[in-house]
Order: sequence, then structure tokens, then C-alpha cells
Amino acid sequence: MRQTGPSCRICRREETKLFLKGERCLKAKCAIDRDRGIPGVHKKSRAKLSDYGVQLRAKQKIRKHYGLGERQFRKVFGTASQKKGITSFMLLVLLEMRLDNIVYRMGFAPSRAQARQMVTHGHIRVNGRRVNVPSFTLKAGDVIELKVAERSSALAVKNIEITENINKIPEWISFDKDAKKGQIVRLPEQGEIQPPADEQLVVELYSK
Ligand code: SF4
Repeated sequence: MRQTGPSCRICRREETKLFLKGERCLKAKCAIDRDRGIPGVHKKSRAKLSDYGVQLRAKQKIRKHYGLGERQFRKVFGTASQKKGITSFMLLVLLEMRLDNIVYRMGFAPSRAQARQMVTHGHIRVNGRRVNVPSFTLKAGDVIELKVAERSSALAVKNIEITENINKIPEWISFDKDAKKGQIVRLPEQGEIQPPADEQLVVELYSK
């Protein structure tokens, strides 16, 4: 099951900004910036963690940042470990290449949760065809666009304007703001993805 519940509470639990709420994450209202502390805990930080605890929290931060449930995340890790290359980096690449993440990266939605909803509601086309599966894995060369009826909608224009301030489009994606269409130019390279925790700790956790 994917994550549910109040987004800011999830960030407070992880003591990190996971950017789950779009525009609000950049404003003074952000619960992390206001130093609200861990929910239900009456002190501002948790006790010193064991090695296992550190690895677990790193995995939770990355999983929640991308909005995946435990089983989904584990499945992506399994796929990453079968790919050639460094497993921790392949994990990040696979997470980035999910359709919901790319819709967010291109600025069609101000958060990954909203991007996922746009996909499941059938607003997104990949290479001219409607795809309504958020976990759909994209590849270099794929073209992603809004369905025709949505391209001139006020919501699409507003979202793209909002997200321009939140989320700089990465160099491995090209985006035509007027056509509301983007393309995966190439796969991201090492150093081009900044997860909220060290991805190597996920490998250490799952290798136990
Ligand atoms: Fe809430 Fe966003 Fe701040 Fe997280 S980063 S606490 S989701 S406002």
C-alpha cells in the first residue's frame, strides 16, 4: 500500500524535508522549517540510532520521498539489484524513471502525489498513448505530454508556473512549456539525483 496520511507528519517523523506538498514546502509554513519535532514525541530529536536504525530511516526517507509503499519499494530494489552497475544508483534511476516522478519533474504537478493522480485519471500520454499506471518505467527517448483537452487548461498553466519555482527541470529531461510536452533525453548520471538520504544505506539494509 502506498503511503497515506498527513504529508507533513511524514516529514516530521523522518526529521527531513521530503517535499510532499508542492508549493507549501517552500513556504514558512513547512513543519520542518518551523521545527515542529517528531509527532507524538515531546522532545525535538530521537535517541541515538543503531546502525540498523540509521539504515532503516534512510530507506524510509527515500521510499516516502518517492511516495512508494514498502512492497513496491522492495520490488524496485529487486529490479535494481539485477541490473548491471551499482545497485544503489540503479535504484535511484528506476525511482526517477517512474512515470509519476517524471510527470512531477516536468512540472505538470506540484507534488508526486498529485502527479500520480493525474496519471491514474488518464491525463498523461506517453509516445502518443494514454498510460494510467504511475509505476510505468520510462526510457530515454520517451515523450510525455498532457492529453489534448488538458493542454490549455487553467490548472495545467498554473501548475507549470508553480512548479517552475519549486523544481528545476533536470538536464536529462527536455521540456517545451508552450506545447506542454517533454522528453527523456537520456538516463540520469551519477550525481544528478539528490535523494533525501544516502542510497547506499538501503543496499546495506536489504543485504542483511
Ligand atoms: Fe510539509 Fe513539505 Fe515541509 Fe514536508 S517539506 S513538512 S510536506 S511542507
